[in-house]
Amino acid sequence: MISPNLTPSFPSRLPQVGTTIFTVMSALATKHQAINLGQGFPDFPCDRDLIAKVNEAMLADHNQYPPMIGVAELRHGVSQKIQNLYGHHYDPDSEITITAGGTQGILTAILSCVSPGDEVVIIEPAYDSYRPSIELAGGKTIAVSLELVRDQHGHVSSYSIPWNALAKVIHAKTRLLIINTPHNPTGMVWQKADLDRLAKLLKDTSTLVLSDEVYEHMVFDGAHHHSVASHPELAARSFLISSFGKTYHVTGWKVGYVAAPISLTAEFRKVHQFNVFTVNTPMQYGLAAYLFDPSHYLNLPTFYQAKRDFFRAGLEQTQFKLLPTPGTYFQSVDYTALSIPEAKLPEADFCKWLTTEVGVAAIPVSAFYEQATESGVIRFCFAKQEQTLTTALQRLQAL
Ligand code: GLN
Repeated sequence: MISPNLTPSFPSRLPQVGTTIFTVMSALATKHQAINLGQGFPDFPCDRDLIAKVNEAMLADHNQYPPMIGVAELRHGVSQKIQNLYGHHYDPDSEITITAGGTQGILTAILSCVSPGDEVVIIEPAYDSYRPSIELAGGKTIAVSLELVRDQHGHVSSYSIPWNALAKVIHAKTRLLIINTPHNPTGMVWQKADLDRLAKLLKDTSTLVLSDEVYEHMVFDGAHHHSVASHPELAARSFLISSFGKTYHVTGWKVGYVAAPISLTAEFRKVHQFNVFTVNTPMQYGLAAYLFDPSHYLNLPTFYQAKRDFFRAGLEQTQFKLLPTPGTYFQSVDYTALSIPEAKLPEADFCKWLTTEVGVAAIPVSAFYEQATESGVIRFCFAKQEQTLTTALQRLQAL
């Protein structure tokens, strides 16, 4: 190894950043052979047919650089899907770009519109990539918190959008607002009235919106996802981010897309081409062929709702207090009512203890706040086989 003394030192671009909580908890789960309900990913295989379609693409020699903006078939498929579901037409050639997953789409969108000193508003708990992405752009993060609704015992029972706080921080020159529905980690979903209210709030501003909708196909109980694409006023100022990884059980493929009006997309692509340039070719062809059949995503709510209900029924046999899960594949619980001394631990320590001593990994919701806000809530991922959930539940029920 080269002596570290020989390497010049330089100021970190992200001095506050360590390793993401998802990686940390997954590593701890592996080390202690815990059931990993922390990092959000399915533990079951994707459809063999999707794999076959990627294989076909490789065998058909689709192995060189695709177009910088993404394979035409996939962009057209995405455009059609958005039109069918949300009633807005994005031009596949000038308004849709295929990205290396949602996270790259988010970073690239931020880099393309945020200049040094620009204010970007986020709503915490917020996905942990937002803040560092804003920082890399030189932007200033303004965080407001979801309002915590508590029951008569003081346990968190749900969340609501902090409209008053948003109205206070958003002004004519706020560059960007980041929203996320269905929401990671809380599972809450925005309603049509929320989009209306947001459009009203932004009406006289030049604020753009980044709408992270990667869990768009996981909305339960017969409800619908309300995309910014379904709201013409918002669509006109928004980057809409989504991901195939969540929808098709292929989080490791890292393919997503960004849909945005032509002027936003033009700037987005300037950054994208010098960031990843292109996204791997055979995956795009395979996904394009698979996307053709809408049943794969239309059936997803039923599929995940069954898992949610199974997991919740098991959790009802514990002392955890369940928060509602109208969307996503995450179930949040308040652990402060457990009658064990560990119930007094801060969230991160409770999750470590749960992983190492109980054998179930979870994510502390405090990790989604800049100033670790302790609300006594942790997040489980239920995108797991029934057997995995059963084993985890047995361990949690023994607490
Ligand atoms: N989105 C996933 C989650 O919230 C994790 C992605 C990641 O590990 N970076 O669990």
